[in-house]
Amino acid sequence: MHSALLPAAVTRPSHGPEAHPANAADISTPSFAALGLIPELLRAVADQGYEEPTPIQVKAIPPILQRRDVMGCAQTGTGKTAGFALPILQLLAPQANTSLSPARHPVRTLIITPTRELAVQVEESVRTYGTHLALRSAVVYGGVDIDPQMKQLHAGVEILVATPGRLLDHLHQKSVNLSRVEILVLDEGDRMLDMGFLPDIKRILAVLPPRRQNLLFSATFPDEVRRLAKELLHLPVTIDVAPRNAPADLVSHQVYPVPALRKRALLVHLARSRDMRQVLVFVRMKRDANRLARQLVQDGVAATAIHSDRTQAERMQALEDFKQGKVPVLVATDIAARGLDIEELPFVVNYELPHTPEDYVHRIGRTGRAGLPGEAISLVSPDEMKYLEDIERMLKRKLPRASAPELARETRPGHRPKGGRHERPAERPQARPHAAPRPAAPAFDYTKPYEPAPSSAPARPEHARPGHRRPERPTAALLGGRPAKHEPHK
Ligand code: AMP
Repeated sequence: MHSALLPAAVTRPSHGPEAHPANAADISTPSFAALGLIPELLRAVADQGYEEPTPIQVKAIPPILQRRDVMGCAQTGTGKTAGFALPILQLLAPQANTSLSPARHPVRTLIITPTRELAVQVEESVRTYGTHLALRSAVVYGGVDIDPQMKQLHAGVEILVATPGRLLDHLHQKSVNLSRVEILVLDEGDRMLDMGFLPDIKRILAVLPPRRQNLLFSATFPDEVRRLAKELLHLPVTIDVAPRNAPADLVSHQVYPVPALRKRALLVHLARSRDMRQVLVFVRMKRDANRLARQLVQDGVAATAIHSDRTQAERMQALEDFKQGKVPVLVATDIAARGLDIEELPFVVNYELPHTPEDYVHRIGRTGRAGLPGEAISLVSPDEMKYLEDIERMLKRKLPRASAPELARETRPGHRPKGGRHERPAERPQARPHAAPRPAAPAFDYTKPYEPAPSSAPARPEHARPGHRRPERPTAALLGGRPAKHEPHK
């Protein structure tokens, strides 16, 4: 499945002035008409001012129109919703009718999303794109009165967008009949599973007709999503639209081969010796994010974690602390990091390699932005070498290894750049201090637990130190993404 997921197109990230998906198209992009869309839909996209389809739309619309199952690797912000909504509307168009009879409006398409915010957004898009077609849609989600939803469902809708918990409530109350569903969409599959919705999804799948078209969209493909895809999809067409990769020449990659048990010591060492003031550290599992952040704090490195188990308030606080430079290390899982819109982050550390190379691209896309250099550092244990090979195959190059002696040359425990931290240049250095040759230093043995050198500066917030001047260089701007989306609403 790996090779089938190699990025086939590159789109813009979901922020900034160049985020508009229309900009992502190049001169060879086919028009919406060339994708075979019917006039009613062409009018709708023209109403929206869309000039060209985005890469995911180019790739998703034709196979969906051919009633193929699709596995789409794409983030929100790529134009994904129109990528599935437009062809679905076209497939349902022959059944469009204005009859008042509910029997003429059975649910033919079910779209399941993990959060109510996404559900609302998707249903709005369906309505917008279907504005010239006599098809009905509705959205149901938890946390609100169920009665108005029941009334709407009783009247009949062709396209139902739902969060899993509330959909099950409706099934229990028999306010919805899913026996005529022809198309199922699972949107943000990774987040759905991360939020523990798998049992709910299985219950829902059990009441759907077995013969149907299935579309699964997910920004990342951890093992659980792959397992679900295998169960759900029949000979799927795989579509991958990677987020914008950071310009290769602005991101330097480094791989530290290191036994798993020594990773923490190495991370602590790197954080200190490389003067990492803002580093996003990736782990694979949410339980490990918390644990690592806790352990780093014990090691004297101020760290916090974000993952989907934390409350909204906790996540916002963690982000804010990181953004303000109060906490230099933010430990995140791939999924939790997705909602963050981060600009200009100097370091990304892969404490654990992702199991799919595309996730590596997503991760390093968080550094090397805004024309500023960034570093992607991977701590790779022997059992992760196979994932490193996958990444290198995808990037079509071998990533430079940093060996222990090289590490020792570049860093000294407790070493500070000339002039000390307090006098660090106000702007991000043009010549990166860590890229410049460093004087030789005593070898650092990262096979031993880290022991702070007597001269090590304590890793505490910069601003906590007397006389400290906050660096004027732009810190990572965490614009927050759409964090509320992370919360389940059942
Ligand atoms: P999505 O990834 O589906 O959340 O879409 C992100 C944004 O892109 C939405 O605001 C859409 O209205 C917009 N969009 C989708 N397709 C296009 C397109 N072909 N051209 C311009 N904007 C688009």
